[in-house]
This record gives sequence, C-alpha cells and structure tokens, in this order.
Amino acid sequence: MTPTAPYEQEIRAAAAHVGRRRFLTVTGAAAALAFTTNLPAAGAAQAAEADARKLTENPFTLGVASGDPQPGSVVLWTRLAPRPYEGGGGMPDARVPVRWEVAYDEKFTRLAGRGRADAHPEFNHSVHIEPTGLAPDRVYYYRFRAGSWISPVGRTRTAPARGAHLSRLKLAAVSCQAYHDGYFTAYRHLAEEDLDVVFHLGDYLYEYPVDAAGGARRYTDRTLPDRFHRETVTLEDYRLRYALYKSDPDLQAAHAAHPFIVTWDDHEVENNYASDISEDDLPPAEFLIRRAAAYRAYWENQPLRRPQRPHGPDARLYRRLHYGQLAQFDILDTRQYRSDQAYGDGWHAPGPESDDPRRTLTGATQERWLIDGWRQSTARWNVLPQQVAFSERRNATGPGYQVSMDAWDGYPASRARVLAGAESAGVDNLVVLTGDVHVHYAFDIKKDFADPASRTAGVEFVTTSIASGKDGADKPANWGTYMAANPHLKFYNGRRGYVTVTLDRDTARGDYRTVSAVTTPGAPVRTAASFVTEAGDPGLKPA
Ligand code: FE
Ligand code: CA
Repeated sequence: MTPTAPYEQEIRAAAAHVGRRRFLTVTGAAAALAFTTNLPAAGAAQAAEADARKLTENPFTLGVASGDPQPGSVVLWTRLAPRPYEGGGGMPDARVPVRWEVAYDEKFTRLAGRGRADAHPEFNHSVHIEPTGLAPDRVYYYRFRAGSWISPVGRTRTAPARGAHLSRLKLAAVSCQAYHDGYFTAYRHLAEEDLDVVFHLGDYLYEYPVDAAGGARRYTDRTLPDRFHRETVTLEDYRLRYALYKSDPDLQAAHAAHPFIVTWDDHEVENNYASDISEDDLPPAEFLIRRAAAYRAYWENQPLRRPQRPHGPDARLYRRLHYGQLAQFDILDTRQYRSDQAYGDGWHAPGPESDDPRRTLTGATQERWLIDGWRQSTARWNVLPQQVAFSERRNATGPGYQVSMDAWDGYPASRARVLAGAESAGVDNLVVLTGDVHVHYAFDIKKDFADPASRTAGVEFVTTSIASGKDGADKPANWGTYMAANPHLKFYNGRRGYVTVTLDRDTARGDYRTVSAVTTPGAPVRTAASFVTEAGDPGLKPA
C-alpha cells in the first residue's frame, strides 16, 4: 500500500479528536512537519515513471524488511535512498513507482503476488506493502524494483490460521542497538537462526551524536558525515539516523531473514521521556514537535501497518497478534501514555510518590485493552512483548535498597493492576519479554515480590542489548548483589546478544545467546544459559 491521505489532513483530523491543549500541541507539530514535507504534485504518474527511469544509482541501500505477520498477510518494507547519508536520500522530490513481488521460492519462479505502489517523498520514499491472500504459516520471498534496480531478496513467514493447533513456535527478542557502541554481530548470528519471528523491544536507534569513526566501531576505512555528530531533534535528523542504522549489513541480514514485530522504547525519541514530558522538562508543546518527528521517522523505517502510522505526535503502536491457538502477543507501548517518573527518575527507594495508585505506565485505555484481550484469549501462552523490566529489581540486600523509577518498579500500582487483571482473566501461562537494561535476566514473576513464597504469576525473559554498553562481561560488578537481593532472579549476564524463546504445548524455553565482543567485528555466539517453564506450573528451571 502507499499513503494516500495528505499528512496535514491527518493532523487536522487528529486535532479534531483531542482537547484544546492537545490541539495546540498537535498544530505546533503540524507546522513543524509541514515545513519539511510538501504535498505531492497532482497527476504526476507519468512524470514519476520517468523519474524512476532516471534513477542512475542503486536506491536499495537500506535493505528490505517484513513485519507484523497475520495469517494471510505480512508487511513488506523498503526505502529508496541512493545516497542514504544525504537529506532526501538522493531521491527526486517526486513520487517514484516501485514494483513488488512475493514468491514461493527464492528464485521467484512461482509468484504468490505482485503489485505496484508509489514511494512518496512525504514519507521519505519508504514503501509499506500489505499484500493479502497469502497462505497462513508459510515462508515467502519478496523483492522490489524501482527503475532498472532490483532490491535484495527478503524471506518472511505469515502467521498460522487463528484456529491452528501448531505444535511449535520459535521467536527471538532483541533490543538496544547503540550503533556507536559496537558492531551488530548479534544480528549476523540471529539471521542464521531458525525462527518464525523476531520481536524488537525498543531502542532501535539512539539520539546521541555519532562521531566520524562510528564511536566504538573505530572505523578506519570510512568517515561518517558530520551530520551524525549531533543529537537527533528534527525530522531530517531522525530520518538520517535511521539511514545510518539501516545501512548496517548485519541489521539488513536479520531483517532479510525474518519478519519483525517492533515496538519502541525511549531512545527512538529521547532518553527516558514520559508521555509529553522530555528528559529536561521542555515545555510539552515543544517536546511534542520532536516526538512527532521521531514517531514519523520510526513508522517510515519499520515494517508497520497503516493503523500504526502516526497522527502528529500520536501513534497507536500497541497491538495484538495471534499465532494460532499457541500464542497471543499483546505488544505494549509503555512510553507514550505513562505518568512522569517518580522522584525525578533514576534509582530511588520506593515511597509514597512512586506508590501513588493514580500512576500508570500503560495509560488507562491500553491497560483496559490488555486485560479485556486476556479475557478473550484462548491461547496456550499469553506473551507480553514490552520495554522495561517488569519484575522487581532491588540494587541492595536488606532495607535501604533502591529500584529503577523508569521501569515497572517505579509504577507498582500499575504493575499490580496488570497482574490482578491477568489472574482474573485466567491467564495461567504469562510470558513477559523485556529489553531496555542491556543485560540478560531471567525472572519468576511473583504475585508479591517481597515474599518469595508467594504465587509465581508467570516468567520474564529479559534480553540484553544488541550493542548498547559495548562488550560487557558475563558477571558485571553488581552480579552477586543483584542475585542475593532478588531471589526471583534466576539468571543475570552482562554480555551483548539476544534471547530465543521456543513455545510448544507443554513448555516455554528461553535460550540466552551472547557474543564475546562487539567493539571488534566477527565474534562468535554461544548459549550462556537455558531455562524452561511448564504450562500450568509457572516458574523457571534450568534446561
Ligand atoms: Fe537501551
Ligand atoms: Ca531504553
């Protein structure tokens, strides 16, 4: 599909549904974006074909991707950018037709679908195709053509039919890929895994400056342009930063190998923002202009469907996907609707401010949607891909400990409502997938974290970062303290990597994959630990 509604109309439509204060901020965002996104010239199809023929350089520099699998459909993505590190990507300021093909085989001898769509300059010449009529639970191959250029081939997989009793599903969870902290070696290994789908749990990019040597990558064979050496603020900043990240060959390999289901955390906009409150407490109207730019660039660069397309500074990213009768995925957005961090953020002892029952991490609407969805769930496993640590994490034994005000620990009433909702909905097999913290953790989720004897309500697999935090260590300095202070913490590892989770009727198994280094390319991957939990009897055991 291609965008058809002019962006300004969307903003006006969105503004009509919000209150006066929100209207003002949305209008501000509209003004900022209108400056950089002009509307397409009318009736330019022939000119566009001509423009496509004029593409003298390969526009497929950012790879291909697929995502949000449904039983008969999966989103296909690419973006045209012959000179990816330039504003506009080296594309003409005109829409350019792109042809796409889906095939049963890698050589495209048997096609399952084909079509044409326009890549619009308003969306930075990104292309989001939502083909329909594909078969459920099936591997497909896809590619694009613009002018005489043909993209790399991507492999993807549709979701099984809603009623299907599939016997096994293998997914991976990834997060936190600070380009300037190291190579995406973990992605190279992820591309080789046998997976149905990959969940990206946030921090797909970081807003911080990247120097000419690519930070810890210490490039000697290339120099990154100055425009990356500043914090991302404007729409062009964010678009260019996606271009930098998307040009990474290991990231491209992972996207070309598996469909992704993505959600964002903070750094796609700004470190530790909360709703319309920025890290440095800018006026909300000003911060929402930045958020609008960041959300828009995110959608443009991810294999997301139309309902996820932002309207000014708002986007409906939380959503539900099903894999037959085996798994229901409720993908959360814990940034856009949250209360501000208590006690000014950071680590703090729990107290009346963080315990305030009015505080929320999800917002009331998303919380209701989640619990209602659980009530209707018939899935064996209810999986919650989300951003920040769900289980309690004390940083010291005994009284006087602190917890992170940015994670669910800073929103205990919100966590209690979600756990009570899961219990009342009869969710027996809850699996939470988490990113953000740049280390691997395995947790039993306790009904009362202060009481190790209390009921185990589910399990949490926390994936370490792809690159953030540089090489790391198997046992970080606080390893002994954390293990002692948190009896429900079953595993802690501070290397880079990802988690794979294999679900079948009886068990969920997590494999914690680590790479030995990211500041040098080519490190091998290993499994640092494996855990299983049994359906009907939650609690992690070494596998
Ligand atoms: Fe991160
Ligand atoms: Ca984060």
